[in-house]
Amino acid sequence: MAEVVVVENLVKKYGNVMALKGISFTVGHGEIFGLVGPNGAGKTTTLRILATLLTPTSGRVEVLGHDVVTERDEVRKLISYLPEEAGAYPYLTGREYLELMAKIYRVGREAVEEGIRIAGLGDAIDRQVRTYSKGMKRRLQLARALMVRPRLAILDEPTSGLDVVHAVHVRKMIKQYAREHGVSVLLSSHNMLEVHYLCDRVALIDEGVLKLIGKPDELLEEYGASNLEEVFVKVVAHA
Ligand code: ATP
Repeated sequence: MAEVVVVENLVKKYGNVMALKGISFTVGHGEIFGLVGPNGAGKTTTLRILATLLTPTSGRVEVLGHDVVTERDEVRKLISYLPEEAGAYPYLTGREYLELMAKIYRVGREAVEEGIRIAGLGDAIDRQVRTYSKGMKRRLQLARALMVRPRLAILDEPTSGLDVVHAVHVRKMIKQYAREHGVSVLLSSHNMLEVHYLCDRVALIDEGVLKLIGKPDELLEEYGASNLEEVFVKVVAHA
């Protein structure tokens, strides 16, 4: 069966800035795949291209065999995307927001119930989003992204800025969805502990170049490191 994601020789230029210099990787069915790398490495650019929001300069990028440029609408039916700075409508309650998203994505009542479970916000689901903390908003956004059961969830720094309790909840839900529902996940993160816990494989991008790719434990062995931070520092020249 085809891979869920195929990225081959992907190049992205913003004017004179070469943000991606020909990266290649694949993501398999039900796999959680993590992109790591310093600020400005090209992670968000890669995720936005897969989410069909940016056009690549060159290279092949496919989701379940569909090209992200020429078959954009097909790809959009297969994915959900959680941007780094996702906002929900402040004057809707959490429940109303999920109901609205269910209508937009044409999924039924069960999806909303599932979203409410994923968010795990208790009674606060009936409060307006403007009263939520950052962690609560992120949980609602994650619920929105997973409740539609995409074939591929693209999550840009899903736990960035969250406290331990919220971050643990978000990671647990991501893992559960990948394991129980076969959702493939492509995420970015600066938290190496998180990446080690969550990801089946990880790729390190530095200045638009893919420096390494592999299973977390195998990378530790290969680099004689006790954690992924050490691997990161060994590979990223200016770290
Ligand atoms: P971070 O970890 O800080 O989120 P990142 O790995 O996600 O970084 P990108 O946001 O993909 O990195 O940026 C990659 C490079 O492309 C950087 O040099 C950035 O300055 C540049 N870049 C991103 N967006 C644009 C844009 N719209 N116009 C020009 N340059 C851009």
